[in-house]
Amino acid sequence: MARVAIFGGGVGGLSAAHELVERGFSVAVYEAKNIWGGKARSMGKPGSGKDGRRDLPGEHGFRFFPGFYKHLPDTMKRIPFPGNTHGVFDNLTYTTQTGILQEGAAPIVIPANFPTTLHQWMQTFHTLFHAHFGIPPHEASFFANKLLVILSSCKERRLAKYEITPWWDFIHAKDMSVDYRKLLGIGLTRSLVAMKAEVASTRTVGDILLQLLLNSLTPGVMVDRVLNGPTNQVWIEPWIEYLKRHSVEMFLNAKTVSINFDGKTITSVTVEIDGKKENVQADFYICAFPVEVLNRLVTDDIKKAAPSLARTARLGTQWMNGIQFYLKRDVPVINGHGLYLDSAWALTSISQHQFWPNVDLSKFGDGRVRGIISVDISDWFTAGDKVVKLPAHECSPEQIKDETWAQLKAHLDEGGQKQISDDDLLDWHLDPDILFPRCHEDNEGNEEPLLVNTIGSWADRPEARVEIPNLFLASDYVRTNTDLATMEGANEAARRAVNAILKAAGSKAHRCKVWPLHEPVVFAPLRGYDYIRFKLGLEHGGWILGMIIAALVVLGIAGGFVGAIMSITESEFLPALLYAIVSFVALTLAWPILRTLVGLFKGKHLLRPVVPPEEGK
Ligand SMILES: Cc1cc2nc3c(=O)[nH]c(=O)nc-3n(C[C@H](O)[C@H](O)[C@H](O)COP(=O)(O)OP(=O)(O)OC[C@H]3O[C@@H](n4cnc5c(N)ncnc54)[C@H](O)[C@@H]3O)c2cc1C
Repeated sequence: MARVAIFGGGVGGLSAAHELVERGFSVAVYEAKNIWGGKARSMGKPGSGKDGRRDLPGEHGFRFFPGFYKHLPDTMKRIPFPGNTHGVFDNLTYTTQTGILQEGAAPIVIPANFPTTLHQWMQTFHTLFHAHFGIPPHEASFFANKLLVILSSCKERRLAKYEITPWWDFIHAKDMSVDYRKLLGIGLTRSLVAMKAEVASTRTVGDILLQLLLNSLTPGVMVDRVLNGPTNQVWIEPWIEYLKRHSVEMFLNAKTVSINFDGKTITSVTVEIDGKKENVQADFYICAFPVEVLNRLVTDDIKKAAPSLARTARLGTQWMNGIQFYLKRDVPVINGHGLYLDSAWALTSISQHQFWPNVDLSKFGDGRVRGIISVDISDWFTAGDKVVKLPAHECSPEQIKDETWAQLKAHLDEGGQKQISDDDLLDWHLDPDILFPRCHEDNEGNEEPLLVNTIGSWADRPEARVEIPNLFLASDYVRTNTDLATMEGANEAARRAVNAILKAAGSKAHRCKVWPLHEPVVFAPLRGYDYIRFKLGLEHGGWILGMIIAALVVLGIAGGFVGAIMSITESEFLPALLYAIVSFVALTLAWPILRTLVGLFKGKHLLRPVVPPEEGK
């Protein structure tokens, strides 16, 4: 039985262990921290549990499982949980709203899913017609067209062009109103994935945004799912039990300190377990730690043999970490996630207890907590604007708490009706990854930053199988269809690593399933059309969809008009003339299509080579 050693016990490492052990491999996982789950983990606030109660539930950052995830739910269904038919997957519950919260304005509450009840339809119409996004209609339609452009673009154009186009430029943010920039430029990138719109890849932002939008337009699909309890309790711990039961050897406090290489293959990996060094030997090695750790461990010899590992040093990370506020009473805020549009520190939050029906908070802490607002801070480098006029990364823990709380309050104070007040606050917990005092040797104060997909980063991201035959990668920075540093991306990377090991081991075991992102079938002809244009070296048709619709509408109206005139005048000349004029207008609107067809018939352009992103960078 081939032996696989996995280094890193986050979603990537645990997913790889799961797939391998189910295929008969002997597996060991080595995790540096004293807790499993990596960035997805939840943990207790140390010392907060009194009189035999559990520590208050804290986390690195809250968890969101969008409806378009396929890999992770598939794994979750295979992790048994008492009383659940589909394992820990059944511990996912769905939210019904997304809130856009602004200072000094009423929150905009958007139904999270396709409306299925009368009440939800009313709410949707209310939002559409009354919400004050402040974005002028022509800018909104321009943005909608941009989304249609992505939907109708072929894969090749997305990779060659949108991958290297900043989201900010793609949506023409600099020429638009402040509200457009705030919501569609900055809000969508900075708050959701800690990216700056000016450097975020349009391919990544656009693809993920479309997945979320398409989900919300599909009846029965839940866009926004969350766990029904603290993450480690309802997902990670049952997972570890399952893996141990299947004889996976699991080591905590086991930090990888070197990867040993003889010029051809990895010979061993040195791990420090509880302070003692040990050389781990296996047939295959999977690195499942984050990219910044990989960059520290990869030697020049390894880089020479595996050039894809030399490029990972160019990948960027950003700070995104959580803080939890424990309240005397439950304040639901909104039935889902909230985006604090005017917050200097790019806050998002969820009020958790409403989704935790079986969690009795009186059994945690000192028994007084009734509500938890879990907040992600996604901008640590812009100065606060309420009580501490410093960027979060320069603040003390207390200052981070004060400023975040003040920013929350400013957004939850609609017309003076305060949703939260200082009286509500009992305690708080900041992600222990933020190190105090700062300037820790080589991580600059944050133990676990998050990979961000900046423009052109696809070229620097490695495949799960690298050029060294017994070395594989299973983490969120690996090239995947998911293409975003998420739990879904980490799980997909693990499946790819396992499939590569199955191939290298000559195993006949069935391969792990890997899904593409969903692309709506109705757009397939347009994507095909765009592929031809792309191969001809032509730009995307731009307003192509509008033009096609306009052409069809004009021709349809013209047909009806002509029929009516014919029946009134009983003459054929006038209607024929009119039809010719209207058809001319319609076809002019559809000019880009004609131009492409002309190019197609010329044929020779079809052979023009497409510059791959690596070279085009
Ligand atoms: C605040 C925040 C909120 C997020 N929210 C979501 C969300 O809602 N939905 C979503 O899908 N994604 C979310 N993400 C992203 C997601 O958490 C990560 O992309 C994903 O968990 C990464 O998994 P991973 O296994 O690749 O890496 P990690 O989770 O980083 O796991 C790597 C593991 O390796 C260990 N390790 C590090 N160094 C060593 C070493 N030297 N030796 C051995 N082990 C080592 C680490 O301790 C860690 O356990 C969020 C991220 C952040 C930061």
